[in-house]
Amino acid sequence: MSELIVAKFGGTSVADFHAMSRCADIVLADDRIRVVVVSASAGVTNQLVAITQHTELTARFTAFTEIERITMAVLNALQYPQAVAADIDALLSELRVLIEHGGTVFSVQHKDEILSFGERLSSVLFTQVLAERDAAVACFDSRKVVRTDSHFGKAEPQINAMRQLCSELLLPVLASQRVVMQGFIGADEHHQTTTLGRGGSDYSAALLAEALDADTVQIWTDVVGIFTTDPRLTEQARCIGEISFDEAAEMATFGAKVLHPATLLPAVRRNIRVFVGSSREPNSGGTWIAREVEDRPAYRAIALRKSQTLITVKSPAMLHAAGFLSRVFDILSRHHISVDLVTTSEISVALTLDEAPGSAFEHLTVAAIEELRQFCEVQVEHGLSLVAVIGNHLHSSRGVTGELFQALEGVNMRMICHGASKHNLCFLVQDDDATPVVKQLHQSLFAA
Ligand code: ADP
Ligand code: ASP
Ligand code: MG
Repeated sequence: MSELIVAKFGGTSVADFHAMSRCADIVLADDRIRVVVVSASAGVTNQLVAITQHTELTARFTAFTEIERITMAVLNALQYPQAVAADIDALLSELRVLIEHGGTVFSVQHKDEILSFGERLSSVLFTQVLAERDAAVACFDSRKVVRTDSHFGKAEPQINAMRQLCSELLLPVLASQRVVMQGFIGADEHHQTTTLGRGGSDYSAALLAEALDADTVQIWTDVVGIFTTDPRLTEQARCIGEISFDEAAEMATFGAKVLHPATLLPAVRRNIRVFVGSSREPNSGGTWIAREVEDRPAYRAIALRKSQTLITVKSPAMLHAAGFLSRVFDILSRHHISVDLVTTSEISVALTLDEAPGSAFEHLTVAAIEELRQFCEVQVEHGLSLVAVIGNHLHSSRGVTGELFQALEGVNMRMICHGASKHNLCFLVQDDDATPVVKQLHQSLFAA
């Protein structure tokens, strides 16, 4: 097949009919865009999450009504709403039945089934927006080809199975038409719906690009590219024209919400270039993420991840003792707690966990702490933020550490990690201090 682009449109890009029309302009302007991946319209996944969390039917139906309102507003703005009205009605009815018969608490499997409706609704609507512009287009159910394991809420994609399913079921369709697919969702081998974790549509697009041997993935969002820091934190943030896979992956891992943390894994494996741009301003440039880049500055960006938990585990028995760390990590691993940063001293080890919903923190059970407490003192602190300076050769460049510490004058840091990665230097501050610290650091490192 000739050059193939997978284009992904995020929640605000498909928030309403006008936003969807702008995305249609982007798709139709480029014949190479054959696969379109959409998120749920902005706000819909949050309402679906609310449905899964409420135990009261009335509260669940308040969230349902909001989803219905967002959906019907797009449907009624279409030129031929009747073309998809029955499909939309069937989806909303199916969701209503799940809500009514879900009991007080939904199983993890039911939760994923419910969360899938956002993308299933928006994909039907966006397909019709494209069809009304005379495009040869079909809505394609991602669950037929996005094969995952059964880890509901944060399923692991199985790329080999995906490649095979894509070549059997999706490639033949692409020969004659474009397809619109749902981001975020997949299915396990028993055809049960799974999700890839919040923000997972970016990852879906990259996985599909890998499975289809596409040349480029485009991530169309509400900012004109990847910035030196979240543009919501400081107006001094500026767009980066070109960035390497390594640096962008570190940014995503350390909280730059513009990309789901796993997005670049498939891109790296197959050397697929990734473009990030604004669906509102498609002609205002954007960011190219690629293996080779011309410029590799010492400081590239600052990322911020709020709501971190710091656990300090202390035991005098650790002094000169072998196997203490492995015992600590064995307990954490058995409780599926994945650790981000680690520092150690003679008799203690400090580690951080992400508190975001669906992340390690949810698994931080009382049982895990109790197990640790059997052989050491455990202190748990909340309300911290992880600030990461991303760049190149940070671990070995002359003067870098001194410059950074100068830029951080007066900042109260709770923990520092430096040396393990050449692409980042991280530290923890109190949540309340985080935004001013990022501003101060950005001003020193980037406002030249
Ligand atoms: P979408 O719904 O399109 O997936 P997201 O809200 O998930 O969009 O991601 C886009 C947001 O990411 C931006 O509005 C911006 O506030 C945030 N963001 C965080 N860090 C960065 C960064 N370094 N560059 C650009 N955007 C960033
Ligand atoms: N709709 C999902 C979410 O809001 C996935 C995505 O938008 O990427 O998390
Ligand atoms: Mg996103």
